[in-house]
Amino acid sequence: MPELPEVEALAAFLRERAVGRVIARIDVLAISALKTYDPPVTGLGGLPVTAVGRYGKFLDLDVDGLHLVIHLARAGWLRWKEEIPVKPVRPGKGPLALRVHLDDGSGFDLTEAGTKKGLAVYVVRDPADVPGIAALGPDPLSETFTVATLQEIVGDRRTQIKRLLRDQRIIAGIGNAYSDEVLHVAKMSPFKIAATLTEEEVELLHGSIVMTLREAVGRSEGLAAGDLKAEKKLGLRVHGRAGEKCPICGDTIREVSFADSALQYCPTCQTGGKPLADRRLSRLLK
Ligand SMILES: [Zn+2]
Repeated sequence: MPELPEVEALAAFLRERAVGRVIARIDVLAISALKTYDPPVTGLGGLPVTAVGRYGKFLDLDVDGLHLVIHLARAGWLRWKEEIPVKPVRPGKGPLALRVHLDDGSGFDLTEAGTKKGLAVYVVRDPADVPGIAALGPDPLSETFTVATLQEIVGDRRTQIKRLLRDQRIIAGIGNAYSDEVLHVAKMSPFKIAATLTEEEVELLHGSIVMTLREAVGRSEGLAAGDLKAEKKLGLRVHGRAGEKCPICGDTIREVSFADSALQYCPTCQTGGKPLADRRLSRLLK
């Protein structure tokens, strides 16, 4: 799933390719992905793309004052095409959800694999009209995201820090993968309760968030949309690497599974060498 660094890179990529081009046509193949009806999506035809930005994990194309806002969710992706097929596609079962044609014959597809559909597209007059954007917490790459900001966020919250980092209303842009990475860099247990963090730990966590995201953005810079997924995987130290060796200490990376996701961590680096309880695993062993 694309998180802040990938969406930032997609925004940069589109800024280069799409800004200055006029939208010729938009084909909506998956009606359920389109979350708004006023202004109509057809209203974007004939208008130029004037800017591309990012809000948390939302991609925002400014189309002459209207906004085409995209949330790729878990299995959505953006595929750029130098030559986008002009022949109309029949709405149906395939992964293609939306196709944007630009006036020079290029364009992009929004696709979504799997059956759990989460891809969301909005056409709005103001990005803040998208409820998910209006509710976003501070952006960790913004200059105003200081140690004091994080201290205030942590406050006396009785929330596990893994959950806190992933909550878009608390901090924008971090998901399951980068929260694992941040906690590995900070050498903290994902289950640590936010309120118990000392001042030094908050400072360490802040540094880990900013460094992890900046490095990931740096790695993705200048990459084509199609290369971002592979780059994200390569750059991850613990996320998705259960059973592999921790690059810092050599211990085996472990996993805790939940109903629809899993987290990975290094026991030596993060939990004093003690493996965390994995409910799914203990259930299987009974
Ligand atoms: Zn380790």
